[in-house]
Amino acid sequence: MNDIILIKVGEIILKGLNRRRFEQKLLGNIRWRLSRIGKFRVYILQSAIYVEGDADADMDAAFEELQKVFGIVAISRAAACEKDKDAIAALAKSYLREDMLRAKSFKVESKRSDKAFPMTSVELSQYVGGELSEAFPDCAVDVHEPELVVHIEIRDLAAYVHAAPVPGAGGMPVGSNGVAVSLLSGGIDSPVSTWMIARRGVRPIPVHFFSFPYTSQQAKEKVVELAELLTPWCGRMRMEVVPFTHIQEEIRDKCPEEYFTLIMRRFMMRIAERIALDNGAKAIVTGENLGQVASQTMEAMASTQAVLSLPVLQPLIGMDKSEIVAMARRIGTFDTSILPYEDCCTVFTPRHPRTHPTVAEVEEAEAALDVQALVDEAIRGLERVPVGYDSEA
Ligand code: ATP
Ligand code: MG
Repeated sequence: MNDIILIKVGEIILKGLNRRRFEQKLLGNIRWRLSRIGKFRVYILQSAIYVEGDADADMDAAFEELQKVFGIVAISRAAACEKDKDAIAALAKSYLREDMLRAKSFKVESKRSDKAFPMTSVELSQYVGGELSEAFPDCAVDVHEPELVVHIEIRDLAAYVHAAPVPGAGGMPVGSNGVAVSLLSGGIDSPVSTWMIARRGVRPIPVHFFSFPYTSQQAKEKVVELAELLTPWCGRMRMEVVPFTHIQEEIRDKCPEEYFTLIMRRFMMRIAERIALDNGAKAIVTGENLGQVASQTMEAMASTQAVLSLPVLQPLIGMDKSEIVAMARRIGTFDTSILPYEDCCTVFTPRHPRTHPTVAEVEEAEAALDVQALVDEAIRGLERVPVGYDSEA
């Protein structure tokens, strides 16, 4: 008899007819994550997902990984024992010892899928409740608002005592809400925006603009590493690295300096849109944050988005930097983000950037460039870097 993991599914329950599709996505994502750890059986029963491991499966590692799968609201472990009331009570006492010592009140809830079990659910709850009460006299029975609910389940092969649940990553299963191109720099913000959009069920295609030799090989490797750090959450990805040097040099040589950044960002958008259309992506995601830098005023964003027809999603737009940093730490990208490699945005930075441009002004400023040819050239030079394909068979 092996321990199992129980998963409570989130918002996807609300999605009516799409529910099955959402559930299948989630099951697929869970199986993919767990396949990197060992052999597990994953199945859904009455809108709860069960994970059973082989005898030698690493349940601790599985539990850890599952906390990074979007679409999961809560996860708990359950220990198995013989289907016998005393075995169940003994297991509850040992398995939930810490929780029972911590909580002020509890109740027991039992569920039987094996109807041949000789007690009703209510009888079993009362029996185990009584035993726990005796063993932990400081934790009172409270059937209305207990601090701790002890779940017991009688299933075909075994009885299970569930540990208290921990929160899941929330959101929706990656891939259930379509695909978007996500602009990934080496900074703090864009890994977080990529993570946030993935949590809404979007499969991200990371795109990085690379200005070798102005930005170094290490700067690119840092971005690949950031994408790697996101794979537990986002699944495996294919990063598109865009050769950006020629475009930046053209801008430097042919455009007025105060518009450098805005024009560069318009190129990023155009190229991102081409990649999106070629890959069935329906939006472009950035880590922009209102007012953070010169190119993130409303006018600046209007001038960069004027070249697009796809929507630009900016999950961080209204957050404070401290909140973004806290999130970067929590998801594990912060330490890599602050490694000191430069980004193409800092190459040829204007001394006095325009912060409140009109679209017409920026169009005028880039008039000397052969936009189409430069975009085509960048697209031809795309380098594809697989991310997270390491342990695939
Ligand atoms: P970040 O911390 O994500 O770099 P930032 O505050 O430094 O953001 P900018 O550098 O102006 O802001 O970039 C705004 C957004 O544009 C980034 O969040 C990212 O989505 C995108 N971006 C910037 N530089 C690049 C790049 N070299 N490759 C891909 N995307 C980029
Ligand atoms: Mg940046």
